[in-house]
Amino acid sequence: MEKADVVIIGSGYGGSIPAYRMAKDGRKVVVLERGKRMETSDFQHSDDPKYVNSVLELLVASNNAALRVGRLVGGASINMDGGCFRLPAHSYTAKDKSGRPYWPESITKEVLAPYYDEAEKVMKIRQMEWNEIPKSGGLFADIFAKAGHKVDRARMNYTDCIHCGYCSVGCRFAKKQSLILNYIPMAEKLGAEFRSECFVDHMKPDGTGFVVHYKKGEEAKEIRGDLVFLAAGGLHSPAVLHRSSNYLDKLPLHVGKHLNFNGESAYIMILPEDYGGLDEYFCYMGMENAGMMCFSPFEDEGFTFHPGGGMEPTMFAAALSGTDDPELPKRTWGLEFKRFVEKVYPHRVFAFSSLGLAEGISEVEKSNNSDTKVSINMTPAYEAYLDRMDLFLDDVAKKSGCKIISAMPRRLHGMTTAHHLSSNRMGSSKDNSVVSPDGYVWNYPNLFCCDASALPYALGVNPALTISANALRVCDYVQKNR
Ligand SMILES: Cc1cc2nc3c(=O)[nH]c(=O)nc-3n(C[C@H](O)[C@H](O)[C@H](O)COP(=O)(O)OP(=O)(O)OC[C@H]3O[C@@H](n4cnc5c(N)ncnc54)[C@H](O)[C@@H]3O)c2cc1C
Ligand code: SF4
Repeated sequence: MEKADVVIIGSGYGGSIPAYRMAKDGRKVVVLERGKRMETSDFQHSDDPKYVNSVLELLVASNNAALRVGRLVGGASINMDGGCFRLPAHSYTAKDKSGRPYWPESITKEVLAPYYDEAEKVMKIRQMEWNEIPKSGGLFADIFAKAGHKVDRARMNYTDCIHCGYCSVGCRFAKKQSLILNYIPMAEKLGAEFRSECFVDHMKPDGTGFVVHYKKGEEAKEIRGDLVFLAAGGLHSPAVLHRSSNYLDKLPLHVGKHLNFNGESAYIMILPEDYGGLDEYFCYMGMENAGMMCFSPFEDEGFTFHPGGGMEPTMFAAALSGTDDPELPKRTWGLEFKRFVEKVYPHRVFAFSSLGLAEGISEVEKSNNSDTKVSINMTPAYEAYLDRMDLFLDDVAKKSGCKIISAMPRRLHGMTTAHHLSSNRMGSSKDNSVVSPDGYVWNYPNLFCCDASALPYALGVNPALTISANALRVCDYVQKNR
């Protein structure tokens, strides 16, 4: 049987960063990634569903929620919109209903700081300059300022971005610093092997290590690792554990539970006709994350807002169909709707999103096959979180003269998110978590997990940088102790 010192499942932040660190130690590293390998020149400026589907998985959960998931070598670093934030101080102190802190006490701002520094340096993360912000970001700042809220430039991993607007289907200009530009080639230079189109089904314990069973096309294969890093992301990492549960009989009971969408909600803003300077603004141009962040409600309300980019008329129609606002068209077809769209599109609409410290309302369920099944159960606490956000946004709308509608109306049970966290959450005890503070799955000291699934709770900001910092922290532990 083939053997490696370290087998890594998945090649996003939680997989590629350990690949680099473990290879740096001189260990033999093999990364198994279900997706294809694409280089920057392979990415296309295309919204053709066939192409989009080849670079981004759309997993449909119960109640039609659309979950966007990375599926290439580099994981969702290929698709992410560039927002890279450290965990705000407020997020470290989040507690559950019983008063238990979500973050293990050993992980503090000071502990994570050097790992954030390292990840920011390698991935060229910095605060955007004002002259790099697209028009939609400026409009967002202006509108929120009218309601008394401070908005500032985001920290991002873009260098000399040319605002083409195709960030989520892969940056063909190599301006977004995805993992194929840094940690992956760095790991390969040290001998790590990234195997694409290798789907991991399950793993079995073998002495102190594990045999990982995977498929390359139709061919079933296996490889033994002394150490395994599970890094298939917030939806698929728990699914791999579920499929392995017949062999790993000491898995904690929390696998797949507590899946958290980081309080993400999407909105559409319709600006009044007389809003200044709109002629130069086209809602389909610019970056998909418009490079701004509003933290002002975070401490009191637990949510933040950031503007998005390109918006198609179809998305607009879906949003309108869920509102009963008397000033908006009653139907999303016919002449009335056509005239309305002509009036507001493309100069008077833009999209923005919230993130927040909201509880997990979802679960990655056990499935009988290799499909990952996600269920969502709305709770009164989550409804209350959305109600508070609606109140806050009503005030912004009133003070700015804009109209704000939900892009995924609650009435239609709508939800879309790209942040899938905490489904194998880390915690201080095996009674309330899956992963220990040192990063190994409880009861399996050689099985590590430091991807999005291991984060203990919602962050209220975009997660990629915190996943990276935590992965580096766990790698330090492994390098010293295994
Ligand atoms: C469109 C989009 C925009 C986003 N924008 C931002 C942003 O602006 N800022 C930010 O911080 N975050 C953003 N995110 C979220 C962020 O990208 C993710 O949280 C992060 O990349 C997750 O890292 P990960 O390592 O946990 O998992 P992933 O990056 O998802 O990597 C997991 C990898 O495992 C592979 N895999 C899954 N199952 C298997 C299997 N069975 N066998 C082998 N391989 C498998 C997948 O193909 C994937 O490549 C965005 C995400 C998306 C999709
Ligand atoms: S908008 Fe910028 S980062 Fe996004 S794909 Fe275009 S050049 Fe790349």
